[in-house]
Amino acid sequence: METLDQGRPRLDRLRDFVTGIGALLDRIRDERSLLEEGSTALAALVAHDDWLPDTCAAPDPDRYSQYLLHCDSRERFSVVSFVWGPGQATPIHDHRVWGLVGVLRGAELSERFARYPDGGLHAVGGTERLEAGEVEAVSPSVGDIHRVSNAFNDRVSISIHLYGGNIGAVSRATYDMAGTHKRFVSGYANTALPNLWDRSGATL
Ligand code: FE
Repeated sequence: METLDQGRPRLDRLRDFVTGIGALLDRIRDERSLLEEGSTALAALVAHDDWLPDTCAAPDPDRYSQYLLHCDSRERFSVVSFVWGPGQATPIHDHRVWGLVGVLRGAELSERFARYPDGGLHAVGGTERLEAGEVEAVSPSVGDIHRVSNAFNDRVSISIHLYGGNIGAVSRATYDMAGTHKRFVSGYANTALPNLWDRSGATL
């Protein structure tokens, strides 16, 4: 049986995840296999809600927050917690890199869009509800434009995102339905990252 370190976030789970994704990227190049194996790893990470530090789970009353949890030293991937206050939503946006979204707490609504030849947007499929433990993929090859919102109006939801780049530094775009787009670089809400590398604790 595992030794539980009461009250201390199980950062070893996040460390094992980022170590595993680094190894995956060493081994696999094609995006389809990456998304498949990455989904399995992310589903295992979000199957437990005992590792995310409170500092990276804090909602902002005005807008959703994105906290950087880890960035690969070669910026091949980044791991981010998205924290949605009650009723908060993103604008319609793209990513320009592959990404995986796994819900850790609460639930999210995801709407996908594609562009007409004139640039205007249309919805693809209906609104999808992602429950805690579920994972979905985005990328320029599988559909890259979406809008995500908290499924709840009275509680916080949190999802963990894995991207094929340093997502906070990628120049990408938000859209309106007419297809007008605005460039943006999201950055991150935090300046300090969780310390994954202190192995002195009982479970670390
Ligand atoms: Fe997104």
